[in-house]
Amino acid sequence: MTENRVCRRCLLFESGREDVLASIHEHIARLPARDRAAQEEYQRRLNVCKACEHLAGGTCLKCGCYPEFRAAFRTQKCPVKLW
Ligand code: SF4
Repeated sequence: MTENRVCRRCLLFESGREDVLASIHEHIARLPARDRAAQEEYQRRLNVCKACEHLAGGTCLKCGCYPEFRAAFRTQKCPVKLW
């Protein structure tokens, strides 16, 4: 029997979910620049998620989103107001 362990504190790029991540990057690339968070802000948000107790296997357990997607939107917010 194979043990399926969920990596806590891992974003998708660290979880071996390249297929999902590639799709997310495609969607982000299609966002109008005005809707996209600045790269520095995007990275800051992801660093907060990586230290968050609600992150598991690249998914936010508070809202069910992929932080790597949600954080890309300039006006999006963390569901528990950490960013
Ligand atoms: S979006 Fe907020 S609650 Fe969700 S993992 Fe990131 S910091 Fe945590």
